[in-house]
Amino acid sequence: MKIGGPVIAVDGPAAAGKGTLARQLAEVLKLPYLDTGLLYRAVTWKVLEAGSKPTDPAETFARALTIEDTRRSGLRSPEVTQAVSNVAAQPAVREALIDIQRHFASIHGGVLDGRDIGTVIFPEADVKFFITASLPTRALRRFLQMGGDMTASDASEKLHIIEDSLKSRDHIDTNRKNAPLCQAHDAYVIETDAMDAASVLSEALRIVRERLNTCPKVT
Ligand code: C5P
Repeated sequence: MKIGGPVIAVDGPAAAGKGTLARQLAEVLKLPYLDTGLLYRAVTWKVLEAGSKPTDPAETFARALTIEDTRRSGLRSPEVTQAVSNVAAQPAVREALIDIQRHFASIHGGVLDGRDIGTVIFPEADVKFFITASLPTRALRRFLQMGGDMTASDASEKLHIIEDSLKSRDHIDTNRKNAPLCQAHDAYVIETDAMDAASVLSEALRIVRERLNTCPKVT
């Protein structure tokens, strides 16, 4: 497939910082940005709205999905978050969402974040990142993002609930047969535990510029 701009894949587990990085990279490099998790969340939203279970066949919902569906509110609700990994584990759902992701970057390139961008959706991506952090760091970040207060009496209970939810999604995402969450062999790994968003961006930009300048794609 000939693409009119660079494709940058940003994969990794939830709350590791990949969404923040991907959004900022897209802004700096003036590329379209797609949070592919929203596609799976939008399918899950439709599944739940129809009164179906997350393990019920959901291919029809996925086939009918458009990018506009990712702008719906409620996609980050606890109900969707709890169900999404089981919906995303269905091979027919993943298959149905391949074209929409490839098409998104087909004109100008793009930055896409998800779980299988560098391994399945764009194995030929110009630059691949795998962004990761320890479970406690990720849980703390998600807690703070949700407006959590570390001094509150129920802070540690809430942190545990978030940690359990992340662990359960990681488990399903990593162990599914089709397109599991895993690091592409040629991905740059950035462990973000001891880094703030600005340092992650600056490291990623350094790598992107090095890759795009010194290794232009022969088309
Ligand atoms: O990125 P986010 O945490 O919003 O993704 C929600 C869920 O969607 C993930 O836990 C995973 O089950 C699924 N997902 C996926 N492949 C992607 C992006 C997300 O399976 N490329």
